[in-house]
Amino acid sequence: MPPDFPVGLAVLAGLLGLCVGSFLNVVIHRLPKMMERDWHAQCAELRGESLPLSDEPFSLARPRSRCPECGHQISASENIPLISYLLILRGKCSGCHARISPRYPIVEALTGLLSAYAAWHFGATIQAAGALLLLWALIALAAIDLDTQLLPDSITLPLLWLGLGANLWGAYTDLSSAVIGAMLGYMALWSVFWLFKLATGKEGMGYGDFKLLAALGAWLGWQMLPAIILLSSVVGATVGITLIVAARHGRNVPIPFGPYLAAAGGIALFWGDSITRSYLGLMA
Ligand SMILES: [Zn+2]
Repeated sequence: MPPDFPVGLAVLAGLLGLCVGSFLNVVIHRLPKMMERDWHAQCAELRGESLPLSDEPFSLARPRSRCPECGHQISASENIPLISYLLILRGKCSGCHARISPRYPIVEALTGLLSAYAAWHFGATIQAAGALLLLWALIALAAIDLDTQLLPDSITLPLLWLGLGANLWGAYTDLSSAVIGAMLGYMALWSVFWLFKLATGKEGMGYGDFKLLAALGAWLGWQMLPAIILLSSVVGATVGITLIVAARHGRNVPIPFGPYLAAAGGIALFWGDSITRSYLGLMA
C-alpha cells in the first residue's frame, strides 16, 4: 500500500531523525556511565560507606555537553546535527582543535536515513510511529553494546512492553504471536547460552541479548525469530571470523552480538514478511 505523500513525510521524518540521532549520541555516551555510577553507589551503600556528595549532577540532560579534551562547552550552533560537524566545526573542537570522532555524525546520519525510510515504507500510519521508536532504540542498543558489551535493561525492557502494547491492536502481528515471540525469543538464546556454556565452559553471550531478542519477538511475532537469528548469526560469524583472521581480535575477545541482533531486527521490520515467505517457499 503506497502512502499518499511519501516524499514529504520521509523528509520530515528524516529531519526528526537527525535531531533524535543527536540525542542518541548523548544516550550512547552517558547511559553506560550513569549505570556505572549507580553500581558504585549501590556497592558503597552495601559496604556501609557514605556516598560522596560532591559529585555534580549527571544525567541525560545535565551537565551540558563539553569537549572531552579541553572542556569547551558545546554551543547551540555547534550542536546542529550533521551541519555543525561537516560545515561549522569540520570535525574539530572549536576550542582546542582536537579531532571529534566521526561516530557522532555517523549516528545522526544513520538515524536520519532510517527514520526517513521508515516513514516512506509505512506511510502516515501508527506502524510508522512505532517503527521509529523501535529503530531509535535499536541504534542506541547497538552502539552501547559495541562500546561496553552491555545492553541496558532500561532500554530492552521498555522496548519489550512497547512491542506487546503495539500488538494489542495488531500493529505488526497478532497479540498471541507477539506474546509467544517474547517468550520464545528469550528462551531461544537462553538455551543456546546454556548449551554453549555446558559444552565449552565459556559464556558466549549475555542476558541482554536474550532480552533484546525477546523484545524483537514481541514487536514482530515469533514467526520472525528464525529469520532474525539466521541473519544475525550469519553476519556476526562473517564479521567475527574476518576480525580473527585479520588478527585484530584474539579468539577469546568477546564480540558483542547485540549489534547483529539489532541489525537483523531492523531488516525483519521492513522485509521480514518476504524473507519468511521465501524460505518457507524453499522448504516446501
Ligand atoms: Zn576541545
